[in-house]
Amino acid sequence: MGRLKITNVKAIVTAPAGINLVVVKVETSDPGLYGLGCATFTQRFLTVAEAVDEYMKPFLVGRDPSDIEDIWQTAMVSSYWRNGPVLNNAISGVDMALWDIQGKRAGMPVYQLLGGKCREAAAAYRHANGSTVEELEENVRRYMGEGYRFIRCQLGGYGGDKAVDGKQTKNPPPGAYYDPAVYARDVVDMFDYLRDKLGFEPELLHDVHERVPPILAVRMAKELEPHRLFFLEDPLAPEDVRWLETIRRQCSTPIAIGELFNNPHEWTMPMVHGHLDFIRVHISQIGGITPAKKLAALGETFAVRTAWHGPGDVSPVGHAANVHLDLACPNFGVQEWCGLDERLQEVFPGCPTVDNGYVYVSDAPGLGIDVDEQKAAQYPAENVLPRWTMTRTPDGSSVRP
Ligand code: MG
Repeated sequence: MGRLKITNVKAIVTAPAGINLVVVKVETSDPGLYGLGCATFTQRFLTVAEAVDEYMKPFLVGRDPSDIEDIWQTAMVSSYWRNGPVLNNAISGVDMALWDIQGKRAGMPVYQLLGGKCREAAAAYRHANGSTVEELEENVRRYMGEGYRFIRCQLGGYGGDKAVDGKQTKNPPPGAYYDPAVYARDVVDMFDYLRDKLGFEPELLHDVHERVPPILAVRMAKELEPHRLFFLEDPLAPEDVRWLETIRRQCSTPIAIGELFNNPHEWTMPMVHGHLDFIRVHISQIGGITPAKKLAALGETFAVRTAWHGPGDVSPVGHAANVHLDLACPNFGVQEWCGLDERLQEVFPGCPTVDNGYVYVSDAPGLGIDVDEQKAAQYPAENVLPRWTMTRTPDGSSVRP
């Protein structure tokens, strides 16, 4: 047998749980040896799939799949312009698949290739929501009953659900409306209630989803300080990270940020200056395991812990990649976890599993997860424009979601 070569690269698009997912399959000259990676940019899944099939495939066929670093470096500059979410996701699909192949060839799970386990499993946090504080408390207690010790608390979803009735213009354009000032007050009241009822034992988190002006984010972080959050997530949009320093100088509320980051320029200086506590990037959004392990190592140097983005628009392959990194990185913080329903488990055999609030991955070689392409085809993706990103304040102004 000659040198191992990449023979095919293809995107698999599927929506088993109603969320469009993109997974990349990299096949090799060794029959039966292939790898899988997550390339899910759910709002633009067709564009990523096209980038994989039309650009990544011709770029990669014939190359040695063990040259992971060189393939990542050359893929990142092959289009000259770089660091956008579409191409980063396409590269991530390939990159994770190459780590999967490397693990299968070595007979080792990916976490061993990354240096071995620092912990047996990854502590996870769930999302509790409620339209009232009482309903939210009930949902928090349900997760606590299942063994989770970290719980994200939202009242009425991102930005709250306070009616904007009476505050709108005559003919308001369609959109997801909320009132930032009401939301900011409600969050503080919500944690007053929750800490009163639950005490300080559960680790509570909150996601601002960059929905307030920076000066309001500063006030929120200060007012939430007595509630001792595990972290306050995305209080600022990526464009406003210079305000992190202002938050830092005024309170000790731990800050998590980075879900929307694409580019090392976005995280390097905030880390160096000690302006954040948790880095929250979406691994496929920055280009896969190869850049994520370097980002984690940078975080280790500057006392920043990892909290990789893990919502429903990460494929189970991407969740597995998150957890392999969680196990191998000494500065792991917490893993966002949304639960994987039966349809996802049916399409992706070998999904990560949960026990007592911890997420475990398979010890099988590689990422330990597979895809049943026939079953995946039974859940076709649907190209529907997202509505929740059309965020507006009461006067109809478009704001960052
Ligand atoms: Mg978030």
